[in-house]
Amino acid sequence: MLIKTLLEDILQLFYPNLCIACQRENVPVTELFCIHCEVELPPSDMYMHKENQCTDRLSGSVPFHTGASMFRFYPHGRIQKIIHSVKYQDRTDIAERLGLRFGRMLKNAPHFRDIDLIIPVPLHPGKLRKRGYNQSEHFALGLGESMKIPVNVKSLVRFKATSTQTKKTREERILNMEHAFRIKKPIKQKNILIVDDVITTGSTIEACASTLLESIPDASISFATIALAQ
Ligand SMILES: [Zn+2]
Repeated sequence: MLIKTLLEDILQLFYPNLCIACQRENVPVTELFCIHCEVELPPSDMYMHKENQCTDRLSGSVPFHTGASMFRFYPHGRIQKIIHSVKYQDRTDIAERLGLRFGRMLKNAPHFRDIDLIIPVPLHPGKLRKRGYNQSEHFALGLGESMKIPVNVKSLVRFKATSTQTKKTREERILNMEHAFRIKKPIKQKNILIVDDVITTGSTIEACASTLLESIPDASISFATIALAQ
């Protein structure tokens, strides 16, 4: 125990583990946030409720079992900075660590108990080449590891390079996402968790779910994201 602590102390001296939210404070290697950010960023409890703020986002056109975001997201807040570093600054390690932590919460949550497969929202191959990684895939890998559930990144593919969704209305977003995804390899499992970084209107997750349901009509689809946009 003493040796482990000593080793951790030495490691931290050379590789300081900065708080992923404020990047100022050093934190133990097992933690994500410093004590100040931990107090200000409590993970949301929406995963404990089958219907919640997150599932309310969806249009209702596709049936979902349940869904939840780890955090609520406020413009210019700490979570927005975290999402930015996960998406644009190669911080796949942050996405994975968030997934590990959220997975520990979901594992014992009543409505997520039956999940037997995790599928991250795929990026279009062109975008994947440009960015070099899919942030949602890394979040999914963390979730899969702590929930002990396989992550499938090969079956669902993004077929259409959709233009940016941010300035579109809900109807335009739905139209934009139409036929955006396809199933390339058959899926055996029936209790599927779709994973994305942020949920805004839910149109991306709904498009993935409707593609999965076309191929597996009796599937039960849930979703999980790092953040729920306000
Ligand atoms: Zn901090």
